[in-house]
Amino acid sequence: CGLIVDFSLSGQLTFLGRWFREISNMWPGQAMTIKVKKVLHHEKSLYQDVLVFESTDYGNVLVLDNVIQCTERDEFSYQEMITHLAMNSHPDPKKVLVIGGGDGGVLREVVKHDCVDEAVLCDIDEAVIRVSKQYLKDMSVSYENPKVKVHIGDGFKFLADYKNAFDVIITDSSDPDGPAESLFQSPYFELLKGALREGGVITTQGSENQWLHLSLIERLKSDCRKIFPVAEYAYTTIPTYPSGQIGFMVCCKEEGRDVTKPLRKWTEEEENNLCRYYNAKIHEASFVLPTFARKRLA
Ligand code: SAM
Repeated sequence: CGLIVDFSLSGQLTFLGRWFREISNMWPGQAMTIKVKKVLHHEKSLYQDVLVFESTDYGNVLVLDNVIQCTERDEFSYQEMITHLAMNSHPDPKKVLVIGGGDGGVLREVVKHDCVDEAVLCDIDEAVIRVSKQYLKDMSVSYENPKVKVHIGDGFKFLADYKNAFDVIITDSSDPDGPAESLFQSPYFELLKGALREGGVITTQGSENQWLHLSLIERLKSDCRKIFPVAEYAYTTIPTYPSGQIGFMVCCKEEGRDVTKPLRKWTEEEENNLCRYYNAKIHEASFVLPTFARKRLA
């Protein structure tokens, strides 16, 4: 198994014996713990603390600044939903941009759509791409795809250079506490809108979860509604994100587009071959909120 050395972030012990603990002020009083088999990689990159470990039950796990980004066992739920909610709400997405997403999982989903000519990824941290290619093979597989182009840099600055350029933009960022802070604010949503072509669609992981962050989601939704004529909140279930779920804002530049229903659908057979979580029915269901959240997010 190898010896697990305890180290700490923000004064909290990240490891306790053979358990990794995700302690953060973003989810006070609770913490996901995952049993560790072996630490595979640990470094301080230019932007963040980067850790990869092999777990006993969730495969390899990528952690940035002590926050779980993805595990091999359940990543498909997040990657498929953040991608296909946007892609299938667009009639013909040809040029797609991913901001963040260095593990490559969203890119893997984007290139499942044959209509895509080009998929560009802009992540601030080359270290995430590098370690994902080494330890998260299923997620990073699409870096080999000839339709994929990679840019290392800040997503906010990258977007500012593009106008009417993309059909779909997916922001797969880490949480606002760190290098992704600017990706959760109104000026960023203005840039997203400007970089979209007519009828373009965005999804963003800026929406955390209903059990912990309703006020943040309320603010995000209201900010998005000031900028996009269509802005809806959807969510997916996933065991290793806080409270077992995470949400997305899905926004469209075209007034009247109903993003809660897929505009394009795969057949059930195609869905079974292409996806493990996403299907046309769950696309619609993901926008249906429990009453306590619906009241605040109407
Ligand atoms: N699905 C994950 C989650 O919600 O926890 C996010 C996964 S992905 C690894 C997040 C990526 O966002 C990281 O690779 C990080 O380097 C990147 N990132 C953070 N801030 C960024 C910024 N300002 N511009 C571009 N990429 C950024």
